Amino acid sequence: METLFTKIRRGDIPSTKIYEDDKCFVILDINPVKKGHALVIAAEPYPNVASCPDTVLTHMMLVAKKIEARQRQVLGNDGSNIIINNDPASGQEVPHLHIHVIPRFTGDGRKHFQDHDRYEDGEMQEIGSRLRIS
Ligand code: AMP
Repeated sequence: METLFTKIRRGDIPSTKIYEDDKCFVILDINPVKKGHALVIAAEPYPNVASCPDTVLTHMMLVAKKIEARQRQVLGNDGSNIIINNDPASGQEVPHLHIHVIPRFTGDGRKHFQDHDRYEDGEMQEIGSRLRIS
């Protein structure tokens, strides 16, 4: 399947690429939350986490870890958001698995989630018992 990111990987659309191997590549986001915001993108266009082989997903997270360390070294950020928007309901715009690595600075004013749910009495325990995995 062709996606924006397969076109970028092939070089049909220009990008600022900062890493590449056989499983993933990393570019700077064109619309950064903060400058240096990077995207670790699967080489193959898996649409979401569930469809991505474990070996690739694990590798992508390790690459994200290295990119995050590099950002801190070069940009001096105090923290980061490492995020996957997983399917359109979560806000994913490009249906091709990628990890956002966003440098964050103390007091930079960026907010991630504006709104939050509130549990009714006992609801947190009830949902927790259904979500438990072994
Ligand atoms: P998501 O909403 O998680 O699918 O994120 C897609 C990201 O791709 C957004 O943060 C966009 O700013 C970014 N993006 C879209 N087009 C480009 C492009 N041509 N080069 C780099 N990043 C892009």
